[in-house]
Amino acid sequence: MISSAYFRNHQNFDPVTVNKTEAVVLGFTNLVGADKIVSVYSPDYGQIRGVAHGIKRIKNRFGSSLEPLTHICLIFKSRPNRDLHLIQQADIINNYPELHRDIISLTAGLYVAELIQRLTPVGGDGEPGIFQTILKTLESLTQKADIFPILRIFEVKFLDLLGYRPHLQKCLVCSDSHFKHGWAFCPSMGGLVCHLCRSKFIECRSISPGGIMFLKQALQMDLTMMGRLKIVTSGRKELEEILQSALSRHLVYPLKSYPVLVNLLTGKRHPYNP
Ligand SMILES: [Zn+2]
Repeated sequence: MISSAYFRNHQNFDPVTVNKTEAVVLGFTNLVGADKIVSVYSPDYGQIRGVAHGIKRIKNRFGSSLEPLTHICLIFKSRPNRDLHLIQQADIINNYPELHRDIISLTAGLYVAELIQRLTPVGGDGEPGIFQTILKTLESLTQKADIFPILRIFEVKFLDLLGYRPHLQKCLVCSDSHFKHGWAFCPSMGGLVCHLCRSKFIECRSISPGGIMFLKQALQMDLTMMGRLKIVTSGRKELEEILQSALSRHLVYPLKSYPVLVNLLTGKRHPYNP
């Protein structure tokens, strides 16, 4: 484990910049002593990691502002070519208290945060679309709506924002677009393949016309409408499996939060949760 003294002793004469931005807290890593490294996503700077000195003390200047899933106004110090910054101040804009009153909604929010943390680069450019999608997803999760379509809409929009927009117009192998004999989604191709071409890929999963329609509507819909799109019961499993397989292709190791969420929703153990 890294000691907080490490950061104090690595100060040099590089120019220090003080930055102010909105952000959403994604998670944290404990350090030795009273400090933590906090990960946030900002529309201006993308994913940022910063040391919060003294945050584990009962009386600390950050209060609850750096708890995961908190929308904050953040002030941090940075030096050129450094990925680890120093958090100076964090003021709460919204801490979504409704999320913390319901364990399923809270776990769903932590799943969203884990995906952002795992699939966006630290120190990359900010993507305002990703930031707005996080905020709207957290807001939707507080509205006591069915969380299943909200998470599927988040997943497909997030894939799109990362540059992995699913191809849903024609077979990616033979370009057929008549859909005569049924369709499958191929994670390695990133979209649809026809009934004849699916035999070339072992990882393909069948998808119904209703499932294809849901994905198309989700990609086009306004974020404020996230809680209104429905999924019929028969189509839930296929959409969950397709989007989880599409996301898994970009993860080095399985998610921690999703099996917990599945357990809460179904009472069953997830294959990734031995
Ligand atoms: Zn084909």
